[in-house]
Amino acid sequence: MTLTSHTTNTPEMAPACITLDGSQGEGGGQILRSALALSLITGRAFRIHRIRAGRSKPGLMRQHLACVEAAVRIGSATAEGAALGSQELTFTPGPLVTGTHEFRIANSGSTMLLLQSILPALLLARQPSDLVLEGGTHNPFAPPFPFIEQAFLPLLRRIGFDVTATLDRPGFHPNGGGRCRVSIRPAGDLKPLRLGDMRTPGAPPAAWARICLAGLPRQVAQREAETLRRRIALDPEQCMINEHAEALGPGNTVHVFTAGDGFANVFTGFGSPRVRAEQVAGDALASAEAFIASGASVDEHLADQLLLPLAIGRGGSFTTTAPSNHTRTQSLILQEFLTITVTTEPIAPTVWRVQVGT
Ligand code: ATP
Repeated sequence: MTLTSHTTNTPEMAPACITLDGSQGEGGGQILRSALALSLITGRAFRIHRIRAGRSKPGLMRQHLACVEAAVRIGSATAEGAALGSQELTFTPGPLVTGTHEFRIANSGSTMLLLQSILPALLLARQPSDLVLEGGTHNPFAPPFPFIEQAFLPLLRRIGFDVTATLDRPGFHPNGGGRCRVSIRPAGDLKPLRLGDMRTPGAPPAAWARICLAGLPRQVAQREAETLRRRIALDPEQCMINEHAEALGPGNTVHVFTAGDGFANVFTGFGSPRVRAEQVAGDALASAEAFIASGASVDEHLADQLLLPLAIGRGGSFTTTAPSNHTRTQSLILQEFLTITVTTEPIAPTVWRVQVGT
């Protein structure tokens, strides 16, 4: 299947509207963001009902609405039901608008989740785009910027997409105010991505760490660095402390990176009031250690986020830990819009192979 972002969507050619149940599977914002991305790519309208129906605050929250508004702008689209708390939305895309766009999310809504909604269509466009995104860049329960920079985008470039991102300043929960730039150029020849040979058992990958700190005593980062060094072998230069005087509010994240094949898996601990520095570093380490012990090639979060780029590229395969609910739900949504196959099979006690066929 060859896909390029559609450029026209005349009413007489419009294919049938897809209907989605927003409460299926994982039942969260990911279903909406993926549907927006796929609608922009295919030109197919969709109607989603029961949006986040099972959540304590159901419907569109501010950050989901920001994704809809960004997709409306990028896709000259109409969106009926785009309001806070709405559990139903009908999205009808028009011509794609490449070029320079700025999107600002109030408070600390995640810019990285907003990117999930609009990046895929721009990756396939024949014209370049430059995005400036303002809001949260290092949010819990979302991909933090270092994950996008070190894990996700290097793999997109291996597929053949031409995309880079730079961070001007981080934005932490709850103040936000971070800013990053994403530059997208027309893709080259796309290739299947194949990741997956399990590492030789007993040979842990190289690891390094970065601690981001804003508006808090440097001691916090030093205690985190000590915690990391007690548990994994890290030279001082492999454990960087980045102090961000330019950030608009306080914040702290600890990122542990493990070397993959041309990319890094990224494991993050998120600081928050009343959580000890040792705990923040320990959270990042615990995820990294469990992943290293598994022998898989990509972690749980990268797995659900890689499916869409593989599906709009030339497919491929990777190994990961037990597929998460996000991964399973993502494969269902992809198959609503695209003629692809996604299969997952266990190949070792802690390793699954995921294959995307296009
Ligand atoms: P909800 O509707 O539950 O409020 P949401 O819209 O905030 O959800 P989800 O649907 O849960 O978001 O999707 C979160 C996305 O962020 C997923 O793609 C997940 O893999 C990714 N993610 C979460 N935590 C991390 C992390 N620590 N590192 C990288 N990616 C992460």
